[in-house]
Amino acid sequence: SSQPTWDAVDAYFSEQLVGHDPVLESATAAADAAGLPKIAVAPNQGKLLHLLALTQGAKRILEVGTLGGYSAIWLARALPADGTLLTLELDPRHAEVARGNLAAAGLAGVAEVRVGRAADSLTVLVEQGVEPFDLVFIDADKPSNPEYFRRALQLTRPGSLIIVDNVVRGGAVADADSTDPAVVGTRALHELIAAEPTVTATSVQTVGSKGYDGFTLARVRG
Ligand code: SAM
Repeated sequence: SSQPTWDAVDAYFSEQLVGHDPVLESATAAADAAGLPKIAVAPNQGKLLHLLALTQGAKRILEVGTLGGYSAIWLARALPADGTLLTLELDPRHAEVARGNLAAAGLAGVAEVRVGRAADSLTVLVEQGVEPFDLVFIDADKPSNPEYFRRALQLTRPGSLIIVDNVVRGGAVADADSTDPAVVGTRALHELIAAEPTVTATSVQTVGSKGYDGFTLARVRG
């Protein structure tokens, strides 16, 4: 099978199990209209994030890489009334679109978009000693994944879930000789996790409307 099949199957799954969602559809339309790159998670992947956050009983969610707020809406919808989502974004234009989308989704009260280099925002959060997050979704510049993961470990608690997106790099993640910074970063992430006794983790390859890719799930040990 190849891309047309993956598209058809994703369309079928999303039609059956995600359904028509005017809020998410207008969030995507607003992001497209603002010229943002079309690199948000797919609807069925967004719902996976939502289900993981629900399963986790997450009350505090941290996202690294906001774009137009599409995945943030899915995640924030899993929060209880007193829950919070903080999402970190470098590009002020992306952040502005995301704030608009989160407000239109009725989530302005629970979701905050913080502009700046995620590495800097994460350092500040560690320095402030903020309450631990129950779930962290890492989906920004891939070369920085090891740094983001290390910070996520400092910002979570036993039982927290850390998700890292786009870890397959078209298969190049298995290439030890790659000099592509995203591959080097993703391999360093796996080496870091492998050597880290405080987490248990797996990575899974996927196909779908976004092509061939995959994600890492890591649970902070209890
Ligand atoms: N999670 C989003 C979704 O699925 O809807 C998609 C995020 S997109 C793949 C990655 C985002 O990370 C972009 O908006 C980009 O501007 C942002 N980004 C890139 N480098 C960054 C950095 N150093 N700090 C914070 N955000 C960054």
